[in-house]
Amino acid sequence: MAQERKYQICSRCVMDTSDPGIIFDEQGVCNNCKSYFERVARELHYDEKGRQKLRAVAQKIAAAGKGKDYDCIIGVSGGVDSSFVAYHVKRLGLRPLAVHLDNGWDSELAVDNIERILRKMDIDLYTKVLDWEEFKDLQLSFFKSSLVDCEIPTDHAIMATLYREARARKIKYIITGSNLVTEAVMPIGWARFKIDWRLIKSIQKMYGGKALKTFPHISLVDLAYATLIDGIKAFPLLNYVEYDKEKAKQILVEKFGWKDYGGKHYESVYTRFYQGYILPKKFGIDKRRAHFSALICAGQIARADALEFLKSDPYADKKMSFRDKEYVIKKFGITPDEFEAIMRLPARDYNDFPNDYRFYNALKGVVKFGKRVATIN
Ligand SMILES: [Zn+2]
Repeated sequence: MAQERKYQICSRCVMDTSDPGIIFDEQGVCNNCKSYFERVARELHYDEKGRQKLRAVAQKIAAAGKGKDYDCIIGVSGGVDSSFVAYHVKRLGLRPLAVHLDNGWDSELAVDNIERILRKMDIDLYTKVLDWEEFKDLQLSFFKSSLVDCEIPTDHAIMATLYREARARKIKYIITGSNLVTEAVMPIGWARFKIDWRLIKSIQKMYGGKALKTFPHISLVDLAYATLIDGIKAFPLLNYVEYDKEKAKQILVEKFGWKDYGGKHYESVYTRFYQGYILPKKFGIDKRRAHFSALICAGQIARADALEFLKSDPYADKKMSFRDKEYVIKKFGITPDEFEAIMRLPARDYNDFPNDYRFYNALKGVVKFGKRVATIN
């Protein structure tokens, strides 16, 4: 257990022993830092070669989309990453369809941001609205399961929806907002493997009251099919353009009147509450550590400043924290006592539930190859 371990914090980033899998070298530098720089060397392409590749990929996308309404799909959430993707996709002269997953938790600001950005850039939007009663039941199941990653249902549904729309509309390219600069530090003990449909099914079976009839899902086999047979590829565009988070925000504010919502993924009320309340209080995890650590490694924030920020409550606004808590409890349709009882349940491990991770791990070589086929890197 992380709590029984002697406390240690990385000498380079701000990851610490709240990451159950953290390992330090003799200099006190953690494995997250090391894997960050390994990935940067492999996946970040800010040089001329990267720019050439970007142009070549854009040409390929445009050619594949000839005669169709759209040549690529982008996911939009109203947040910085996906809004910045929209901006660059248009700059490349592409014709994207924006896809948004409405899981019932969008903040007003998120909806407002999506509208502003897409209207100004003349991008069509398709919104997939989840069946709220079914999705609520699944989200509650994950909360009750006491598994650390309560966001698996949403992240899975987003991925499934992007692939479904791509297949249905015969669009070959999904441009994603996943990027190294803000996301490359994320320990496996905090968030893992969102595509695990078996895990989702088993948790719903154990804790849920509803069958998952309409929930958009994608299994490893579906993904393999979409990739190998349909030839759909994902492209992490933000690894090919200079992505400085503050500068990106500035561009979005100045050009589109985009509004900052003050935290990574805080465009969703549940995500805000999960990261600001459930994770720190139930699991002893402050996810800002991972976000700051990635930005430190990217040279976009000083370690000392990150340490200072971490002293503050993840909810900068206490009133908002109370409001969100009340809202979440009411929206879930549970009582405050039921909520507190779930909060007190001990954390569980992924392996307490049937899942596909071992299968995924056993097939690492195949998956690596599959990823290379599925993603343009
Ligand atoms: Zn580190």
